[in-house]
Amino acid sequence: MKAEAYNIENIVQKVIEEINNRNNTSNNQKGVFNDMNDAIEAAWLAQKKLVKYNLEFRNKLVKAMREEIRKNINLLSKMAVEETGMGRYEDKIKKNLLVVEKTPGVEDLKSEVFSGDDGLTLLELSPYGVIGAITPTTNPSETIVCNAIGMIAAGNGVVFSPHPSAKKTSLKTIELLNKAIIEAGGPENLLTSIKEPSLSNAEIMMKHKKINMLVATGGPGVVKAVLSSGKKAIGAGAGNPPAVVDETADIEKAARDIIAGCSFDNNLPCIAEKEVIVVDSVADYLIFNMKKNNAYEIKEKRDIERLEKLVINEDGHPNKSYVGKNADYILKKIGIDCGPEVRAIILEVDRDHPFVVEELMMPILPIVRVKDVDEAIRLAVEVEHGFRHTAIMHSKNVDNLTRMAKEIQTTIFIKNGPSYAGIGVGGEGYTTFTIAGPTGEGLTSARTFTRKRRCVLVGGFSIK
Ligand code: NAD
Repeated sequence: MKAEAYNIENIVQKVIEEINNRNNTSNNQKGVFNDMNDAIEAAWLAQKKLVKYNLEFRNKLVKAMREEIRKNINLLSKMAVEETGMGRYEDKIKKNLLVVEKTPGVEDLKSEVFSGDDGLTLLELSPYGVIGAITPTTNPSETIVCNAIGMIAAGNGVVFSPHPSAKKTSLKTIELLNKAIIEAGGPENLLTSIKEPSLSNAEIMMKHKKINMLVATGGPGVVKAVLSSGKKAIGAGAGNPPAVVDETADIEKAARDIIAGCSFDNNLPCIAEKEVIVVDSVADYLIFNMKKNNAYEIKEKRDIERLEKLVINEDGHPNKSYVGKNADYILKKIGIDCGPEVRAIILEVDRDHPFVVEELMMPILPIVRVKDVDEAIRLAVEVEHGFRHTAIMHSKNVDNLTRMAKEIQTTIFIKNGPSYAGIGVGGEGYTTFTIAGPTGEGLTSARTFTRKRRCVLVGGFSIK
């Protein structure tokens, strides 16, 4: 009877594998299927194989994935800029390198233990199974690499639903990661996706019974969609990070850090400085120093209005054609000629200006003057919109820093540094490209993608 059951299981697996091979779109796009249901079945099957291996083997797979992406960093960075028309090649290289080097792997899975007179209890971190991961257009390869490392380290298979506007880069990333896994001796299709990503395919994934967890990295729409799915969901949503500068700050450094952070990859990162709120007494000196760091200030009312008309649609939301574009490109469109050394456009505006309230994701940095630090913190809380994402403050006053951190309640709070210090660039700590503010997991890592399980041994192994 046992042998019979084993045979049937084997036959079923073979049939599924054949279906998967048939539907796999091409030999060199490993893991890419025509049909979402097939992509899910294949990842499900691969995950069953993965859990049979030990942690050392998972570690080997993760290492191979890191190395394969490292070898192809220039290619993926170039593809992303060309395909999406957003961001800067040299910054994408830095972002891809960051996920390769600083995304936690298997070592992140730390068990907890309780031991005492009644014995030993372990709290173990087990895989969910197959995770459906929805990824953005702003960091296409970075998010996939980061999610893939953490999710596989945790023992899961992954079905990706990438943004349609970044499908070539996303599918190439998945293909490279699968190649590395297979060459390291791991199962095929541990990471899968579909040839034509779309909202309807994402919906199939969100409803599929073999998807055990959903992880969405993107704007408010997709976070709401996964949270309404009825499945365990992690939402990494939009931000609008304010940078507050008070009168005690090292103004020259603050200006340098803010321009470096806000212009990195043309402001695409969700953590990047999106508006500056500065105490009046130091505002002029801050602006003077920003200009010394390749910021171009627009002062004329006529130019400000032109810029607003260019990058804000009639409905008040950002014009997507200018998201992630270079500052000199945007300036040229309003008749201002300048060289490529200009990294950011700065301008003083009122607190309710769309540049302040909206998440532009362009190298345009609005500056709002306030009378004191109390007003600055109040306004920062207001314009962050309760996203609980990221905030930055430049100050030497510990009380001010503490107060802002408490009041704004963001997942990431950077003190006296550029925003990217918050994801491990020039700041301590690991990196992630999935920052789960709305659902509270924070900076996700392998352990985020696990189920906590308790394993109890009664009356033994306590040697206290
Ligand atoms: P987006 O919301 O347009 O798309 C993100 C992904 O969600 C894409 O794959 C898209 O196809 C999918 N999607 C969108 N609506 C959906 C729905 N209703 N159902 C299912 N899938 C849906 O975002 P984008 O332009 O690609 O990325 C930029 C946004 O993402 C910004 O708001 C940025 O702040 C945010 N973001 C957040 C993080 C984070 O870690 N919190 C990281 C990167 C980007």
